[in-house]
Amino acid sequence: MPLPLKERVKTVLKRVEEACLRSNRDPGDVRVVAVTKTVDVERIKEAIDAGLRIFGENYVQEAREKIEALKAFDIEWHFIGHLQRNKAKDAVRLFRMIHTVDSLRLAQELDKRAGAIGRKVDVLIQVNLSGEETKSGIAREDLEALVRGVGGLENLSLLGLMTLPPYFEDPEGARPFFRALRMLRDEVEERTGAELRELSMGMSHDFEVAIEEGATLVRIGSAIFGPRDR
Ligand SMILES: *Cc1c(COP(=O)(O)O)cnc(C)c1O
Repeated sequence: MPLPLKERVKTVLKRVEEACLRSNRDPGDVRVVAVTKTVDVERIKEAIDAGLRIFGENYVQEAREKIEALKAFDIEWHFIGHLQRNKAKDAVRLFRMIHTVDSLRLAQELDKRAGAIGRKVDVLIQVNLSGEETKSGIAREDLEALVRGVGGLENLSLLGLMTLPPYFEDPEGARPFFRALRMLRDEVEERTGAELRELSMGMSHDFEVAIEEGATLVRIGSAIFGPRDR
């Protein structure tokens, strides 16, 4: 018998809190983004009932139906997948925050589309720290220019950085990547004057390490909803 969702949520929140205390951080500074790809609306309602308020989706199409079905609830939606420019118009309408901006062209398109509907959208820049070609994200050497570019766009609020390290059996393997993102953030803040307070890093299997290294948004799917089939 799998544990009821409420129990899973409680356990995750407790682990978040413990990781904060271990690293002298205020638990209020770390927010859980419950990742709902492949998870249906009924199950998301259970998660809302268990106290979760921020939900993350990877695909605009999949998200649209869920967001519409759940629009009566006081929750927020974050986009965490790879975003194509032709989906920018829908993305700014549906999501409060987009974690995966990785080019100025995409940012400009989002800015234009947000402006057209009179919205201001929170964004993070996704950084590819491992150099893996299969991963999206901007290379670290191009980050400073992108921060300056996005910072100049009227309808986007640049709040921080996101990364997705390679998978390691031992979550400690991801620690150098999480640390590198935090140090890169500090460096780019210093050089540009931008304030990048959010660090979106850590998933089910390594979120505690990410919190120890400064994560403010942890994106957690399977630890809450159980394993995904697809
Ligand atoms: C699926 C996904 C997650 C959540 O993964 P889990 O291992 O199930 O916690 C987090 N971030 C991104 C970008 C994802 O695609």
